[in-house]
Amino acid sequence: MPADSPPLDSLPFDTLAAALDILHRVYGHEAFRGRQAEIIDHVVKGGDALVLMPTGGGKSVCYQIPAMLRDGVGIVVSPLIALMQDQVAALQQMGVAAAVLNSSQSLDEMRAVEAQLRQGTLQLLYVAPERLLTPRFLDLLHTLKIALFAIDEAHCVSQWGHDFRPEYIQLSVLHQQFPDVPRIALTATADRETRAEIRTRLALEEAEVYLTSFDRPNIRYRVVERTDAKRQLLALIEGDYVGAAGIVYCQSRKKVDETAAWLATHKIKALPYHAGMDAETRRRNQERFLREDGIVMVATIAFGMGIDKPDVRFVAHLDLPSSIEAYYQETGRAGRDGAAADAWLAFGLADVVLLRRRIEESELSDQRKVVSRRKLDALLAFCEATTCRRVALLSYLGEESQPCGNCDICLEPGESWDASVPAQKLLSACWRTGQRFGVGHLVDVLRGEATDKVTRFGHEQLPVFGIGRDVDAQIWKSLARQLVSLGYLIVQSDQFNTLAVSETARPLLKGEATLMMRRPTVKMGRGNRPRRNGTAEATTAAALTRADVAPDLWDALRNRRRDLATAQNLPPYVIFHDATLLAIAQAKPQRLEDFLHIPGIGERKMKRYGADFLEVLAAFR
Ligand code: ADP
Ligand code: ZN
Repeated sequence: MPADSPPLDSLPFDTLAAALDILHRVYGHEAFRGRQAEIIDHVVKGGDALVLMPTGGGKSVCYQIPAMLRDGVGIVVSPLIALMQDQVAALQQMGVAAAVLNSSQSLDEMRAVEAQLRQGTLQLLYVAPERLLTPRFLDLLHTLKIALFAIDEAHCVSQWGHDFRPEYIQLSVLHQQFPDVPRIALTATADRETRAEIRTRLALEEAEVYLTSFDRPNIRYRVVERTDAKRQLLALIEGDYVGAAGIVYCQSRKKVDETAAWLATHKIKALPYHAGMDAETRRRNQERFLREDGIVMVATIAFGMGIDKPDVRFVAHLDLPSSIEAYYQETGRAGRDGAAADAWLAFGLADVVLLRRRIEESELSDQRKVVSRRKLDALLAFCEATTCRRVALLSYLGEESQPCGNCDICLEPGESWDASVPAQKLLSACWRTGQRFGVGHLVDVLRGEATDKVTRFGHEQLPVFGIGRDVDAQIWKSLARQLVSLGYLIVQSDQFNTLAVSETARPLLKGEATLMMRRPTVKMGRGNRPRRNGTAEATTAAALTRADVAPDLWDALRNRRRDLATAQNLPPYVIFHDATLLAIAQAKPQRLEDFLHIPGIGERKMKRYGADFLEVLAAFR
């Protein structure tokens, strides 16, 4: 327990005990997660490390604690100014001597930081790569004792990645000029090529590699069939996420504007963000999203790069993302703080048609088209999955796993059914009607609806007329979508989305293949509580949700947090993360010392904010 841990200097020299002590007293965390302890041990002893961990996995302590345990200042290279500033603010809140050097500072501010460096009073310095690499600054570093170099977002050295930063390549001078200082590179990008590139470009060939699972256990994955996307989204927000921050992704700028405006008329604080807006409005919207509580950002994928907001409670996709990689990256922006979060996607046949057509009509080479089709197929398979979504996602990322208990499929099991016979009927209806009609008409024929169009073409005479009365129109539509996803039905590239039977459907028609389907019955609006049978550490982090807390208490705590943050011109999550605030609401500490038992509260934050929150709680006893 944090309160009982002995002071640092009375411990024998044992890195782990000392590291744990810092974790308790400074961070207010109970125990190390995953491979954090190993990494810290290795770096404190002077080893180089390459750390591959998902977003929210807890990379920061892997270099922050070694920097505090080793002599001298830890130099952290980071590509984004806003990100650096938040991190430094968070460290200062915990009582760590941290500072930042970047181009947005005045000369006086920079001089003040340099003076601190010379006096040896800093534990951590965050610096932009271009500043670090100036000869003047490197000279200054040579006069100092340096604990370590940490290279955050290390995938920025990769020329093929989308975050490429040319200055990152020159960071190999650190190894040449400071061969005895340990270096630790960190990234949430795990693919093999990027990993290899980081090693060679940063001269980290000898470094120990720490690869951890890319699972994000606190994120609940849900895929729903789109009926009325905006209303479905509203139900999601009103059900679980009133007043919570979220990101809604749409494909087009027009849809972004419409959706944001529509949500606003339903009392949701929604703002648009896309590349077609003027830079100033965009900047302002982003700023509000970061600083204010509970903003829903409706955006195209232009939004998100470098968004480090830890308390994004949901990421909703109203259109299909472009690939599983993109989906993983975009949904990964939810729940960085480890508290429960949702990744919610609504999709329909139109998406499949659109994305297929986009590939076919693109200027891509045939080879690239094959790759794009494969990526789309993988994504569709994920959407149509009848087994655990997380297992599918992780297996795509190269990891084996067990059913998770925290996705729509795990939470509503036993709903898959053998749709082979209905599939045959649908294929047959398509064939019999001459492969000239869209899904709506085929469903009418199957369900025996004698519409004008049906009688005009004499389709009520066909043997397939009415053979599908027992199946709901909605199910026929999702079956059609699945057949298109699987390539059994082909959408012909004309404006009416007419369907044709593909050659590959042969085994299904002959009864040699089966087709499993899920019943589209995803309910919404229940409390968001992950039920994990996975690792204990993940479960504790994700255990509490807003459903466990009285709404007025939650609001009172959030308002106090907001006031404390505004007074210091900081975003609220720098004071306390949501998970910490939830734990306060649940434990209702009575005395100052009780706050030390709340995850995320160390000694400094207890002293600084304990009394404030005791006051809020007093009104609720
Ligand atoms: P990353 O940089 O990998 O995205 P962070 O270092 O920002 O992740 O950590 C993500 C969240 O996890 C933060 O809220 C942090 O306080 C929390 N965290 C990190 N390590 C631990 C731990 N050992 N126990 C509990 N929470 C932790
Ligand atoms: Zn699952």
